[in-house]
Amino acid sequence: MVPDKSDPPRELASEAWLRRILSAALLWFQRRRRQSFDRFLGEDAWIVAPHPDDEVLGCGGTILRKRRLGAEVRVVFLTDGEGSHPDALSAKELATRRRDEAIRACRALNVTTDRVFFLGLTDGALKDQIDACVTNLSDLFARHRAGQFFVPHRMEPPSDHKAAWCATTAALDRLQMQATVLEYSVWCWDRWPFVRLGPGGGVLRRVARRARDMFWAMSWLFGCRAWVDVSDVADAKNDALAKHVSQMHGLPEAPNAPTLRTLRNGDFIERLLGPYEIFDSVTVAASTNTNVRTDG
Ligand SMILES: [Zn+2]
Repeated sequence: MVPDKSDPPRELASEAWLRRILSAALLWFQRRRRQSFDRFLGEDAWIVAPHPDDEVLGCGGTILRKRRLGAEVRVVFLTDGEGSHPDALSAKELATRRRDEAIRACRALNVTTDRVFFLGLTDGALKDQIDACVTNLSDLFARHRAGQFFVPHRMEPPSDHKAAWCATTAALDRLQMQATVLEYSVWCWDRWPFVRLGPGGGVLRRVARRARDMFWAMSWLFGCRAWVDVSDVADAKNDALAKHVSQMHGLPEAPNAPTLRTLRNGDFIERLLGPYEIFDSVTVAASTNTNVRTDG
C-alpha cells in the first residue's frame, strides 16, 4: 500500500452523483470492448507483486479461479513492503510481519508456501534496483516456466509498480520467452471519478483535475480488454485480503495511519473488491522479441 496522508475528503451529494454517473459511463464503454479471459484461466502463471497485498488487490480473484482449474500459480514479491509505516516499526520488523501476512494471504488464495518467493529488494527504490530485479526474475522464470505473467499495469502511479513492469518485461526479453503479459491495476483505480477527489484547490483547479483524471482514466481503462468474472470467489478474495492485517486494519503502533479500508472513505477498496478483474493483455513473441497487444 502507498500511504495517503491527506484528510478523508468530503463530498457533496451533487458531486457524488456526478462521479457515479461518469464512472458508470466509463465502465459501460469498457464493458463493450472487453473479452472474457475464461478460456485461458487453466494456464500456469507467475504473479509479480511489487509489495505484499498487490497480488490480492490486482488479481486475487483470478488466482483463485485459476487454482480451482488446477493451474500452477507462483507469486514473487519484489519487496517486503517495509516502507508502509516508516514511523511505527523498524524496516526489519515490518518486513518480517508483512512476509508473514503475504504467506497467509497466498495460502488463502490456494497458493502453497513453496510457490511463494521473496526477492527482498528495497521498498520505494525498485527503480534503482532494476538490474538485480531482472536477474532474479529471469532465474525464477527459467526454473519454473509459465505461459502467463501478471504484472502491475505500466500506467500505475507508484514508481515500484512501474519498475515491476519494466523488470518483468526485461526478464522475459532476456529469456526470449513466448508469453502473455497481463497487466493488472491497483492504483490506477485511485482516480476520479472512481474515487472521490482529494481535498484542496479552488473551483477551477478542481474542474481541471477532474478533466485530467477523466482523460487519463479513458486511456488506461479502454486498453484493459481481458476480463475475468470473480463474483463467485469474492468472499475468498476478501478473506485473502484480510490476511494483510497491517494494510487492512493498520498497526497498533500506528493507530492513526490510513488503511486500505479507510482510503478515500472506502471508495478505493470498493473498486478493488468489485465483481470482475480487468487486464491489459500483451503477447510477448519469442522469435521476434516484439510485443503485440492482444484482445485477451
Ligand atoms: Zn504496491
